[in-house]
Amino acid sequence: MYRRNIKHILGPLAILIAIFIFYQSWLKPHYFHEMPAPPPQVITEEVVGSKGPVAPPQQAVLPEMKRSRTIDPVSIPVPRHSELLGTIHDELEKHNIASAQTKLEELPSSILSESATKRHVAILWNNLGILQENAGGTETSVKAFKKAVMLDPQNPVAHLNLAHAYWGLRDPALTEEFLKKVLTLSPDEPFPHVALADLLQEKDRLPEAAKHLAQAMDRIKKDPGLQSYVKVVTAKVHRAEKVEEKFSTRNSVHFTVKYDGSEDPETWTTVLDILEAAYRDIGQKFNFFPSKPIMVVLHTKTQFQGSTGSPVWADGLFDPVLGRIQIPSQGATTDRAWLTRVLRHEFVHALIHEELGATGGAIPTWLNEGLAMQLANDSWQEVANMPPGEHILIPLAALEEGWENLSAEKVGAAYMEANAATHYLIERFGMHKVHELLLHLKARQTIAAAMQDRLLLSYDHFQQQWVESMGTTLSTPKS
Ligand SMILES: [Zn+2]
Repeated sequence: MYRRNIKHILGPLAILIAIFIFYQSWLKPHYFHEMPAPPPQVITEEVVGSKGPVAPPQQAVLPEMKRSRTIDPVSIPVPRHSELLGTIHDELEKHNIASAQTKLEELPSSILSESATKRHVAILWNNLGILQENAGGTETSVKAFKKAVMLDPQNPVAHLNLAHAYWGLRDPALTEEFLKKVLTLSPDEPFPHVALADLLQEKDRLPEAAKHLAQAMDRIKKDPGLQSYVKVVTAKVHRAEKVEEKFSTRNSVHFTVKYDGSEDPETWTTVLDILEAAYRDIGQKFNFFPSKPIMVVLHTKTQFQGSTGSPVWADGLFDPVLGRIQIPSQGATTDRAWLTRVLRHEFVHALIHEELGATGGAIPTWLNEGLAMQLANDSWQEVANMPPGEHILIPLAALEEGWENLSAEKVGAAYMEANAATHYLIERFGMHKVHELLLHLKARQTIAAAMQDRLLLSYDHFQQQWVESMGTTLSTPKS
């Protein structure tokens, strides 16, 4: 069923694109002896026609916010046990994380009956959390911040830290109620407003989200990174508010579909069916299920490019800022195979986005797109049948950022490579290892470090071996 569409992309690609001109130093010289570099070729418009590739997600990542997050324990003097607590403070000062944690855990519960001591211990837990976060990422620190908040329910810094940690982990505990409490405790901080706006966007409460974005903007003083982020989000929220004003909404168990009410109502039924099937099937393959319903907006073609700001060659996209899949609905009912492909592809992007978390490290675009194609069955076992010929290969490192600015010619090649490299990665190491790579990316490691750590293979070697595997396949095409 997919073949027609895949071939549409693949046909021209297979003939025109290819392998083995790495930019200068990317390949060892012997490659050039084996397969001399062909001149670059022009790829026809067909590749990026209306049934062409699907846009990579737009990058608009919340910058790391500077926060003065440790608290000086002397701010709360303790009437008793000062020696015991002083020892823990010293361990923290010396960055002895494990020992400080053990000592904190072993504190007798009797000393926590006193309010000042309790608040003092809360500070120690908070400061432990900071050290843990710096050493091992958010996942290791969230427990300490929770302890701090539990011990001192009025501590603004500990609440901010916990909110940041929840946000980074996409933890469902980051609720509206919790964020409102953080707002009350730290009325001058922009972050709780940004996080609350994000939550409201996902619940499609756009006017309220816009209000909190405005309040965040008022509170950002000298942080150009955060300012530009809030500006981008605000613009998107306003645009979505306007475009979707008269849209109807339908829910299934795991999805909310918004669509232009005047469109054929059968469309959303079809869309929900495809999405629920994708949820079961891809969720199982990827071994990850989203924690909350995913929003899908169907646009008519003309609305689509105007409302999402997507590249002209895009058929659909997952917008990580608004947390929603945007799909043009024109032709949705007449070409179910195409609709299925696009919805499944974007669903994978939504899954990866949720798994990596808002402040998680960035996933290289080639891996993001490759996983989308592989998991959505948008894949090409056909790669193996690609006729040998003149091939151009862009180094993977040059395909890590967004592809919005690539030429149409390069975009086609980029998708092919992303798919082939990810296919190789999954075939050789298994989905379990790929998942481990993602967890390392989530902890803000680079793809090179993640590969070295989980695959025991350098990024360069992975690329080289993948290229070699392609070379073999290409020289002896399967029938
Ligand atoms: Zn994509």
